[in-house]
Amino acid sequence: MDHTLYRGVHLNQELPSFARVWLLGTGSPSLQVCRHGISTLMQLRGRFFLFDTGRATLQRMYECGIPAAQVRNVFITHLHSDHICGMPDFWMTAWYVMHRSKPLRIYGPKGTERFVAGMKEMHHFDLDVRPKYETAKIEGVQIEPTEFEEGVVYDEDGITIKAFLVDHGPATPAYGFRIECDGKVIVLSGDTTYNTNLVQHATGCDLLIHAVAAASDRQLAENEITRRLIKNHTSPEQLAQVLEEAKPKMTLLHHISTWRVTEYDILSRIRSGTHQPFEMGHDRMEILVGDEIKIFPSNAPATGEDLIVSDHAD
Ligand SMILES: [Zn+2]
Repeated sequence: MDHTLYRGVHLNQELPSFARVWLLGTGSPSLQVCRHGISTLMQLRGRFFLFDTGRATLQRMYECGIPAAQVRNVFITHLHSDHICGMPDFWMTAWYVMHRSKPLRIYGPKGTERFVAGMKEMHHFDLDVRPKYETAKIEGVQIEPTEFEEGVVYDEDGITIKAFLVDHGPATPAYGFRIECDGKVIVLSGDTTYNTNLVQHATGCDLLIHAVAAASDRQLAENEITRRLIKNHTSPEQLAQVLEEAKPKMTLLHHISTWRVTEYDILSRIRSGTHQPFEMGHDRMEILVGDEIKIFPSNAPATGEDLIVSDHAD
């Protein structure tokens, strides 16, 4: 393959001069197959960074051609089950099947160490017996958990990841992430209702990846649970306000939750409040964030064969 050109973007160094982003899963906790659980992967300077591990995270990675054993840094926005239920599979299978050879680093809010301890307890059988016959290195099943509060969580080799508090109602603490590399800024909203801290961190960013939830007026009138859930998420109208205030160069929607509304309704409700650019995200969508932002649809061929991975990638 010619490494000087990738998807129409010139590469003038050994490693890509742009960030690569995959929306692995863009769904709600519901069981849609076309939108699996929430999960987003980035590749910055040859290193992978995984954000949230909803249902089928590993499956989607495989479908995108990602070498899952090399994904060693995982960041959790909050500990709601739909953001972490794909972690045990990713942790265990990417070790003994795909031969992860170094410990998995899991960065998450308060409670993450307890989550990791519980996951180890759940898989006590594998931890006891697999090392007796599997060929994967034992280091690869180890986990290094780090609990964070608001502030810089990761700062290595010019890549900075900052966690910032958002408002997810009673589900606290809940964070979004601001990722900076090579002068580019990508922001992940996490789960939140409209929140000025998010607007502040997303202002002027290159790419905002934002969750959205919408219900019909009838559903809201008839269903108390929907009313409660909607309050802790961002409505299309609130998202339009975020875009008007933060003005990201591009916004992609993910973690799509709907109650008796269509995705078309969501788009048109946002569009009625803003002229800023945004698009509906889909599972396996790939985005290149460089001097320009290029979006490749889910049906583009898997690109793993032309991944350029740093020798010291982790
Ligand atoms: Zn949540």
